[in-house]
Formats: sequence, C-alpha cells, structure tokens
Amino acid sequence: MNDLLQTIEPVTLMGPGPSCVHSSVLDALAKPTLGHLDPDFIRIMDAIKQQLKTLLHTRNALTLPISGTGSAGMECSFVNLIEKNDPVLILINGVFGMRMQDVATRLGADVDTLEFDWGTPVIVDVVQKQLSKKTYKLVAVVHAETSTGVMNPVSGIGSLLKNKETLFLVDAVTSFGGTDIFMDDWGIDVLYSGTQKCLSCPPGLSPVSFSRAAVDVIEARKTKVPNWYLDLSLIMNYWEGATRAYHHTAPVNMLYGLYQALCLILEEGETRVFERHMKTHLQLVRELDHLGIRMHVDAACRLPMLNAVCIPDGVDDADVRTRLLKQYKIEIGAGLGPLAGKIWRIGLMGHTARPENVEKLIQALKAVLPPLRDR
Ligand code: PLP
Repeated sequence: MNDLLQTIEPVTLMGPGPSCVHSSVLDALAKPTLGHLDPDFIRIMDAIKQQLKTLLHTRNALTLPISGTGSAGMECSFVNLIEKNDPVLILINGVFGMRMQDVATRLGADVDTLEFDWGTPVIVDVVQKQLSKKTYKLVAVVHAETSTGVMNPVSGIGSLLKNKETLFLVDAVTSFGGTDIFMDDWGIDVLYSGTQKCLSCPPGLSPVSFSRAAVDVIEARKTKVPNWYLDLSLIMNYWEGATRAYHHTAPVNMLYGLYQALCLILEEGETRVFERHMKTHLQLVRELDHLGIRMHVDAACRLPMLNAVCIPDGVDDADVRTRLLKQYKIEIGAGLGPLAGKIWRIGLMGHTARPENVEKLIQALKAVLPPLRDR
C-alpha cells in the first residue's frame, strides 16, 4: 500500500459526519469490483432498494441511492420537481435549510421562506398560517438540522399537507438510521439522505425516495430536467426493470458498502439502533453537565445523533478541537455560520453511538479543558 495511505490512523469520528464505519462495511468496500451490469451486482442493487424501503417505511417504487453525497440528493430532489416560477416554501432554521433555498432559487423557483431562530424548531402553527395564505407546489424542511442540533416536527408539518396537491420534501441526511422516519404515514413525498451519518458508511451515496404523487409531477413536466446526471427519468431505467440500461457507471464498491451498512441496521433492529442513539446521547448530556458544559438546544427538540454544546467561556474553540484530534484521535465539529465559535457539534451517529466513545471523549475533554473552578 502507498505510504500516504499507510500513515492513516483510525480517528474516532464524533463530528457532524462522516461517522465511524464498522469493519464489515470496510471489508465490503474492498470486495472485488464487478461490472455495473453484472447480474450479481444487480441483485445487490435490488436488495438495497428493498432495504431502503423497509427502513424508510415506504412503499415508494422509486427508492434508490443517487451517486453523490447528500447534496446530490438535495439537488436531485429539487431539479426533478421544480420548473421555472414554481411556488416553493422553504422552512429555514439552519445552514441546510438555507442551502435548499439556494438550490431552489438557482432553478428559478418562486421561493418563499419562513425563518426560525437557529437552535429552535420550525413552528407548525406558523407554517399553517402561511399555507392558508398561498398554495405551494412544494414545501421543504430539514428533519435533523445538523448545523444547530435541532429536530424539526416533520410529522406535524406533513399533517398540514395531507390530501393537498402540495408535495412535502424532507432532508433526512442526518436523521435516517438514527431516529424514526415513517415516510408514508407522515405524508412525505420526497426524501433524501446521505450515507456518512447514521448509516455509518463512508460519504458518496445519497438514498432518495419519491412518492407516486412526486413521480406524477416529474412525468407531467413541461420542460426537460435541466441536469442530465440527476435526471431520474433516465436513472430509473438503470435501477428498474428486467433489462437495465446504462446511464452512468454506478459506484459499485460504494454500493457494496451501503448494502452491508443497511444489513447491520436491519440485523440489530431499528428500534434497538434508535435506543442506542438515545442512550448514548443522554449519557453524553449527563457527563457534559458534570463538566459544567451546557447544551445549546432545549431537551424537547434535541437531536440524539448531533449534540450542539455551548463552548464554555474562556475556552479556545480551535485549540480544544485540535488537541482532541492530535493527542486523542477524536474528531468533534465546529459551529457553522452564526454559531461558529459558540458551539461544538458532537456527533453520536450510527456506529459512533456507543457508550465507550462517550467515555473516551469525556476523559479526553477532562484532560484538555481547564478545570471547572478556573473557568
Ligand atoms: N443536509 C444536511 C442536514 C446535512 O447535514 C448535510 C451535510 O452535513 C447535507 C445536507 C449535505 O450532505 P453532503 O455534505 O453529504 O453533501
């Protein structure tokens, strides 16, 4: 192996993603590469579609992983559904809601936004009021806002849109695999995620799922999807049917990795996986409290998999993160945008969500932080 690779040492990934990857997923990535139309590979593709449907609790036929990271899933969702001047409502309480606004605006949509304080959730009543004033083609929200550590009330927003023509689009990049998602019951029409968070697979794929209503919208488009690579009407021909048509060369080994990562979640059982996320989150909150470190977000809407913690006064943000990485081989995340320098983002995602990792981080923080009495 080349020397640059030989020097890589394992890091306990406790930031906003990527998360730690199970050894069996790394083994899967190293399996021999097959041709992207090989029947054995197509069997794996079909199994992944079924696994995703099971874990998302959806019957959507159009459920598959897009080649590319979570942002590719975001781009794919908007580019297939939006045409110029389509009225769109984006609910924003962090960086990733803002990114949705950017993506929709670039496509020429007529974008309205409702903005909520960073660190607080979207308020369903405010959304309801806005929906009574104007009809939208699509309403979009981030389920787990990774930039602030807030869980948004997706099922409540979905109830507002039931039996309406408006499509409901949800970013589940950070939530999928770490907490409940009932895509069909919650009235979600379009969802995208990413592999590198609670699915505990390296970055590179973005599971997406589109309801029948969303597919009808795609089929009724007046204009061509303005992006060839993410055009689902073309991608579908590779992922569906008895004969598969080449679209682009699938990232074969990444898909082996995703298959194995999904197998692990299904084998452990999703309820137990979610309980493990919640238990380690509560352990972290307790231990941080003993160190005099407060959480940024109210308990009622905290994410279990992404903990936004207030950097104590007088503590040097970058110095602590650098020492954790260099001396203890632990990565935690910095704050983004207005929260830069104010919070750390501690990820307990997927395989990372284990009591021994919380313990390891707490011991390292004890060594790195000035004692409580000196702060
Ligand atoms: N949406 C959310 C909520 C995210 O947390 C991220 C990444 O952190 C993305 C979208 C973009 O995903 P990626 O960085 O994999 O492109």
